[in-house]
Amino acid sequence: MTEQESVKRIWDTALGELEIQVSRHNYQTWLEKTVGVDYSGGEFVIGVPNAFVAEYLEQNQRSLIEKTLIGLTRREARVVFRVEGAGQAPDGPAPPAATAPPAETAGFNPKYTFDHFVTGGGNQLAHAAANSVVENLGQSYNPLFICGGVGLGKTHLLHAIGQAALARQQRVAYLSGERFTNDFITAIREGWTEDFRRHYRNVDILMLDDVQFISGKAKTEECFFHTFNELHSHNRQIVLTSDQQPKSIPKLAERLRSRFEWGLIADIQPPDIQTRRDILRSKAEQQDTYLPEAVLELIARRTDHSIRELEGNLNRVLAYARLLQAPFTPELALRALESIARKNPDGGGAPAQVIATVAASFDLMPGDLISLRRDKEINLARQVAMYLIREQNGCPLTQIGLQFSHRNPSTVRHACEKISAELDSSPWLRRRVAEIRQQIHSS
Ligand code: ADP
Ligand code: MG
Repeated sequence: MTEQESVKRIWDTALGELEIQVSRHNYQTWLEKTVGVDYSGGEFVIGVPNAFVAEYLEQNQRSLIEKTLIGLTRREARVVFRVEGAGQAPDGPAPPAATAPPAETAGFNPKYTFDHFVTGGGNQLAHAAANSVVENLGQSYNPLFICGGVGLGKTHLLHAIGQAALARQQRVAYLSGERFTNDFITAIREGWTEDFRRHYRNVDILMLDDVQFISGKAKTEECFFHTFNELHSHNRQIVLTSDQQPKSIPKLAERLRSRFEWGLIADIQPPDIQTRRDILRSKAEQQDTYLPEAVLELIARRTDHSIRELEGNLNRVLAYARLLQAPFTPELALRALESIARKNPDGGGAPAQVIATVAASFDLMPGDLISLRRDKEINLARQVAMYLIREQNGCPLTQIGLQFSHRNPSTVRHACEKISAELDSSPWLRRRVAEIRQQIHSS
């Protein structure tokens, strides 16, 4: 492992931490395309795609980033943002590929292929269906609807299908539900909805990731409905993913729900321990690293839900071993995972972590939850945070109220009771809260 690779690895680990601390939108806009470039003399150089991003991060995220890096490396880390465009960095090694995907992958992550997808009990059906779709475009299951919790490989499978289809010279359209919605809104505003529709009706395979995002947005749903019908009637392949089954997506228009159920619904379940070990082994090998079985076992046992988290924990262990230049032993792995759990000594105790995790899960900022704003979405997230703080810490109601702009204990009690009742009646909320708990425990 070269110095360059080790810096990249540290930064990737830090990105994993930052991803749960800032909103998803924020992360995707400002942080996702950055790379670790150099770390020497206490200075950590982060490569950014343009001056605009550099300026934003410099002004808004510097201290959070430094805190995260120090927590991770336990060393001084003054952050410098450097624009790493094409032809930059004349006297250093070329920046890692993460900045811009090569054109032939058309925006697909080159690591998200079928070869790199490890199968096990929880995902066999989805994997087999994805393969079958590539072999018989538009002929086997149409649509293929893949659903499952966060970090279980839905996006990975879509990219795998997309890359395989491209290799077969098929016309592929891949986008997220969010992107579809935003593009459609722009199309309306600028008056080119016809072109918009034509564009998506002209493909051999249309993949919409996180389709739940369009639900409840009537115009977007209608546009997608017509696109769907057109493609389907011409035997063009449609693949969709969502965090839940069509029948459980709140506010989804009935006619879309029924169409989503026309083909095959393949559910991805969290991986069992054997699969988790296999995934870890495969991810380590992709980095030319071979870990003893006992270490794989230890990491696999500590993360039992999301594969994204599993990968994050693996990267933490690798980064830690590299920093200490120590061999991969179970003791070292344990220390690496625990040192992360203890990080951020001045970042407040567990309540702050709960608030940050809940906020990220609802795509909000921690400040939104603490504020006095009463929008519906914020209210729900705030109540979930109160409920979880109570559950995780057994804090008195008064103390919890203090965390949220001095709210009354009775407000907190009401929130806890309301969420507790809703958890009984809403599978959606149950799942969401379970995911948040999981994130809290593994971060
Ligand atoms: P989702 O879209 O379901 O939230 P992703 O597809 O983004 O999840 O997966 C999260 C991470 O876990 C990615 O880095 C992906 O490569 C990895 N991953 C998920 N499932 C598998 C698998 N079966 N084998 C290998 N890696 C996986
Ligand atoms: Mg995804």
